[in-house]
Amino acid sequence: MTLNITEQVAKVLKPIMAAKRIAVIPHINPDGDALGGMSALVDALRIKGIDARGILIQQLPSYLNELFKKDNLIFYPENFSQFSPQISIVIDSSSLDRIGDDIAYYIRHSKVINIDHHASNLNFGDFNWVDADASSVCEMIYEFIKEIDVRITPDMASNIYLGISTDTGNFTHANTSAKCMNIAAKMIACGANPNNLSMALEMSGYNRYRLLALALQSIEFYNGGSISVMPVTHHMMNKAGAVFNDTYDFIEYPRRIKGVDVAILLYENGDGLVHASLRSKGRVDVSKIALGFGGGGHKVAAGCTFNASIDKAKEDLIRAVSYND
Ligand code: AMP
Ligand code: MN
Ligand code: MN
Repeated sequence: MTLNITEQVAKVLKPIMAAKRIAVIPHINPDGDALGGMSALVDALRIKGIDARGILIQQLPSYLNELFKKDNLIFYPENFSQFSPQISIVIDSSSLDRIGDDIAYYIRHSKVINIDHHASNLNFGDFNWVDADASSVCEMIYEFIKEIDVRITPDMASNIYLGISTDTGNFTHANTSAKCMNIAAKMIACGANPNNLSMALEMSGYNRYRLLALALQSIEFYNGGSISVMPVTHHMMNKAGAVFNDTYDFIEYPRRIKGVDVAILLYENGDGLVHASLRSKGRVDVSKIALGFGGGGHKVAAGCTFNASIDKAKEDLIRAVSYND
């Protein structure tokens, strides 16, 4: 039985609206969807008189930095003792490890509400609203805001638009739906400016392109060309003078190559950890592969982290993809 949207929102509505202090928490290395959803939800709850705060432990990625300047959202670990939430709303995260140990510890005394759109979600909350048919968590946040009857401000509209557009690859990925485009259109009517947002997202330093040049030269193919791997090593980062967020969207290049079914981006973060981004053209379910390595995601876009060398991560992933193919 499919629940209508009011019934879905009802799963989390009561505890949220009964709380006085709410923390809204995105996943680590937050993207446009997690940050846009956090920001819009915090604004809406504050309009309802709830003391809501967005919780971040990292500086915002530079490609999003311009878009989030509001002081009430940024709450670094040194300030944790000043705010004790009764409810913590974790968004865009398939499991609790996605928010990081420090924040999981910080929210241990609060009830956890899980709002997410990943099929691999583990229903880790005290209350769970998981909709794998939603294009993005921002689409769900829009529905929530509508249910609580808050008028969408231009800032909320920009943030919701940002999440929907980034999670759908600018309305091109398989999760693009009439519904999400309708919501995006409404957000434009409420004040979102797609051109300004995409200009802000596109802008980066030249170091990112230096890194891209190195990464493009190092793409490798396996399984007769059906698997492409783009490794980004610490050495390449240093050579280019780049940082982690500069790899944003690099996965699109190995993915777009003809004949490739599964594309893999491997990024060495310098702490001995390797992040893997996986993309599928639809035949292979990469969320299953990522789950097998402690990660998660969607059928066509997933990720996981390895405590191993880039070569070992590559070998393990290629074996898993070939096995699932
Ligand atoms: P990314 O490749 O990092 O853009 O992530 C693609 C999808 O996989 C997103 O929906 C992420 O939320 C999810 N994802 C990425 N890394 C992880 C991870 N370590 N654990 C669980 N899900 C992940
Ligand atoms: Mn996300
Ligand atoms: Mn998302």
